[in-house]
Amino acid sequence: DDARLSQELLKMDGASYGRYKSLKGDWDFGDFTLTVQRVQADPFAPPSRIRVLRSDAGIPESAWKDPVRRRATADYLGRRARKQLRGSLLKIDTGGQEVIARSSLQVTEGGGIDLRIGLNMPGHGRRIDGRSAERELCRTLPDLVDDLDWDEIDQKEAVAFADSVADTVALRDQLAGLDLVAFVADGAILPRRSGISDEPMRDGAVPFDSPESLRVSVDLPHRGTITGMGVAEGITLIVGGGFHGKSTLLHALERGVYDHVPGDGRELVVTRPDAVKIRAEEGRGVERTDVSPFVRNLPTGADTSDFRTENASGSTSQAANICEAVESGASTLLVDEDSTATNLMIRDERMQRLVHGDREPLVPFIDLVRPLNREHKVSTVLVMGGSGDYFDVADQVIMLDAYHPHDVTDQASELAHEREDAEFRLPRARVVDPGSVDDSGNKGRSRIKRRDMDVLTFGESDVDVRGVEQFVDPGQIIGAGLALRRLVQGRHLNGERTLREALDSLDQELAEHGVTLLGQDFGGDYTLPRRAEVAAVLNRLRAMRVAEMR
Ligand code: ADP
Ligand code: MG
Repeated sequence: DDARLSQELLKMDGASYGRYKSLKGDWDFGDFTLTVQRVQADPFAPPSRIRVLRSDAGIPESAWKDPVRRRATADYLGRRARKQLRGSLLKIDTGGQEVIARSSLQVTEGGGIDLRIGLNMPGHGRRIDGRSAERELCRTLPDLVDDLDWDEIDQKEAVAFADSVADTVALRDQLAGLDLVAFVADGAILPRRSGISDEPMRDGAVPFDSPESLRVSVDLPHRGTITGMGVAEGITLIVGGGFHGKSTLLHALERGVYDHVPGDGRELVVTRPDAVKIRAEEGRGVERTDVSPFVRNLPTGADTSDFRTENASGSTSQAANICEAVESGASTLLVDEDSTATNLMIRDERMQRLVHGDREPLVPFIDLVRPLNREHKVSTVLVMGGSGDYFDVADQVIMLDAYHPHDVTDQASELAHEREDAEFRLPRARVVDPGSVDDSGNKGRSRIKRRDMDVLTFGESDVDVRGVEQFVDPGQIIGAGLALRRLVQGRHLNGERTLREALDSLDQELAEHGVTLLGQDFGGDYTLPRRAEVAAVLNRLRAMRVAEMR
């Protein structure tokens, strides 16, 4: 078929652009099948979609049998493919510093590859440029497939890449058994190159060095024994002067739910997979969330165990974010003073004397952080440089001094006061109305798109995801949209299950079938989202309706 495709393309040269549509279907190239899945209607439309399935690329069983190594190997090959395709019209979606399952390249059972790439079908205006198309599909693409053959690649590098990811996963898997919520290895490089680059800082980065009292050593399958700082379950406070690296450390913990590429500096910085960054998010909508632990009597008299607003304040948005995180199963909350509502975090004595009793609807986080941990096993890691109030409730206090961490728990507890806790009742569980989660656009066809890292378009709704900080890859935003669709189509959300049960059920299905379950007939790239982000998108979908609260 490859000769036939080549002839076909050359014959089309100069024909009107719409003729490209005739290419749709399978083309047998001998050792692989090329499928033209979707053809763009004109040169300005989103790229056409090409799939390549090669059942045997020589990838050894050791690289595909285990799901972690399989994901890592696929990621490695994807990055190689991107380099190989530089300057070509063929585009493959690959990751940044994180290694996350994505649709663009899968390693298959038996050691093959399944590639899904985009091609901007070349044209001279609205006429087909058949020669360029022929070059891309009949030469560049087969060359790429050859180039991804296990015998052609740097096997040592590929294996080292997978070893590194396997170590990260093994390290994260050990956290719970060690009663830790996070671990930061000695020697890790946390600071990034700039506010807009996620690559490691090049010059002057101070490598992480754990304080002795918090040092933990862990055995990993490939690297052997490593040491670093264990962040214990409970309440951890990170303090220190401005510019001493507090937010940088917290940011590394936020990202520690993901695996990082070798050389990133955060390969051995890990956090519990269900840790959720909490922030204030003024203006977000809230659809029937139980925020009553934080908000007790509003001036409007609204029932705060069934709270709805189109426009949340800083404090109520943060309260909703915490309650929703707990509702969907977070074990760890990550909080930075830089992005919180002060009145939800603390209330000092003088303010309590001035505004007391019924006049203040808010119960500050400081009164709830301990019961949250004691009764519901939810830990908190909190950056707070501006107030010592949290000394009263912290189990451990880490001070950053010129980027070096010190254990100052004892000094801080000498400064602590007695403090009475409030009660944290588990937020009521919501049952979402599946009919309200509708991805169909105006012609009834599914519409899932994104704008930068800011907006997910889901059907007729635009979901503002700027406040969802643990989205790290544009493809995850699409992935989350597809996951919402799957929640409904797979009947995980069935009008009976609570949101949490529905997410459990989807997780199970994804673990079994992998990321491509989400987009069987989707014409674009996507990446696996975490359940926390799927829930976050659902909670920000203004069309979403709650059928029942339990
Ligand atoms: P804080 O939150 O304590 O005010 P940041 O975490 O924002 O401080 O860090 C302040 C600056 O220091 C940032 O520019 C950051 O990149 C840099 N920085 C953080 N950690 C390190 C480090 N380990 N080595 C070198 N520079 C660092
Ligand atoms: Mg900061």
